[in-house]
Amino acid sequence: MGSPTPCRCLLRLLPLVVPLIEAYALPTLRARPTRAPRMSLPASPLPPPPTPPPEARGALVASMDEAALALGEAAHALGEAPPRRAPPPRGPDGRLLPVLTLPGDSLDDTPIMPALLALSSLLAFAAVGRAFACGAGPLAPLLGVALGGLAGELLSGAFHWATDNYGSLRTPVVGFACAAFQGHHLAPWTISYRSAANNVHKIGAAALAPTVGALLWLPPVPAAFVATLLYSQLLAQEFHRWTHTPPHLLAAWQRGLQDAGIALGVNEHVAHHKPPFDKHYCILTGRLNAFLDEKPVLFWRRLEALVYRINGQEPNSWKDPRVKEVALRL
Ligand SMILES: [Zn+2]
Ligand SMILES: [Zn+2]
Repeated sequence: MGSPTPCRCLLRLLPLVVPLIEAYALPTLRARPTRAPRMSLPASPLPPPPTPPPEARGALVASMDEAALALGEAAHALGEAPPRRAPPPRGPDGRLLPVLTLPGDSLDDTPIMPALLALSSLLAFAAVGRAFACGAGPLAPLLGVALGGLAGELLSGAFHWATDNYGSLRTPVVGFACAAFQGHHLAPWTISYRSAANNVHKIGAAALAPTVGALLWLPPVPAAFVATLLYSQLLAQEFHRWTHTPPHLLAAWQRGLQDAGIALGVNEHVAHHKPPFDKHYCILTGRLNAFLDEKPVLFWRRLEALVYRINGQEPNSWKDPRVKEVALRL
């Protein structure tokens, strides 16, 4: 009885990963009735029904752009941003034209971008395929991939929370990411002009060394966990791009993944794009957000209070004093 080849294992894996990612969210979250958080914060638009009809989804995407334009105008009025003459014009497909403000940022692809995406994908699938090929059965690799996806969801939220709330372009190492995430709130439509490779290549570059290290030095199942965790960050950033892309510009399979709850839903991300940008940080599937955002967990408020007590630094979300009050009461 020969052991299965990596290729066969990879093919066998594909239909398994999808329900796994979907299944890792706590089943109780699904059953929990949608209700407003019991914090004394502005009414938060909690997720509408999971699958809005196409026309409603287009309106949701546009609503994030409109909210950003209003936010930009308010910032200019308060003198927190340089004067802007007018909102950017719309292109032939109806989208606002992109706004690039970061040094060196570009919507153009360079050869290294698709190469990094391809290499990242190859390494992640190799790590997962090896775990299935080398193990005695599918259970341990399945568990490794499922836990990697769950940890990846949480990491996507933690990175988003950190870069939204702390740092600036002058911050060492992650300054570009801080400025990119914070600037994204003011021009969210710009991400929709990026290619997948342009959108995720920096994450792919950052994940390369740890993924190779995991492949070289960890046993197959832990390596699959690490590879899934890291590759989830590429997927999260790509799924994020889809939520800002008008539905008619997405492929049917992309909308299908959103409808199935495998990719971050537009309705889920709309709930984040409102000042003070204090919740709905996870951007892989978004299925942990209700659990992390609501009482009694209030995960991000607890983290913010912890950071504040350690170094006295206040997050951007505390520009709304009600958010600060909630955090400091914990
Ligand atoms: Zn954000
Ligand atoms: Zn966004």
